[in-house]
Amino acid sequence: MVLLISFDIDGTLETGNGPGPITLEMVRRALALGHVIGSCSDRPVQDQQAMWTAAGIEPSFTVLKHKLDTVKAQFTEVEAYYHIGDTELDQHYARLSAFEFEQVQTMEPHVWMLNDQGEADWGPNGRGMLRAPSATTLGLSVPQPEAWG
Ligand SMILES: [Mg+2]
Repeated sequence: MVLLISFDIDGTLETGNGPGPITLEMVRRALALGHVIGSCSDRPVQDQQAMWTAAGIEPSFTVLKHKLDTVKAQFTEVEAYYHIGDTELDQHYARLSAFEFEQVQTMEPHVWMLNDQGEADWGPNGRGMLRAPSATTLGLSVPQPEAWG
């Protein structure tokens, strides 16, 4: 089963700022298994490409977060589309583009994430804490400083 896997970078990949749980070794394994991989991030596309070049990995796509739908249109010969990320924005754009969203802090590891011992070796900081949804996302109004006192 060929998957298309889109990675957020910061907070998701070990090369992110901060470093996320998904290691380059996992990404290489996904490639070796024949999956289509790339990045979908707020970072400029050039920056994304430089990251992959430094890692010696050739991604099939590098797009800005709101362009995830163009990836789906470009790759039609895959069986499932995943976007892996760490924030609500990732979830938002994944849903908008009809990708499966995987929250990197809580997801069940995919097969390509497992080493020869069948374990997921998460990145240097482990999986970290799941951030609570922001007040804005929850539809709460946040008092502005000028409204105080
Ligand atoms: Mg992120």
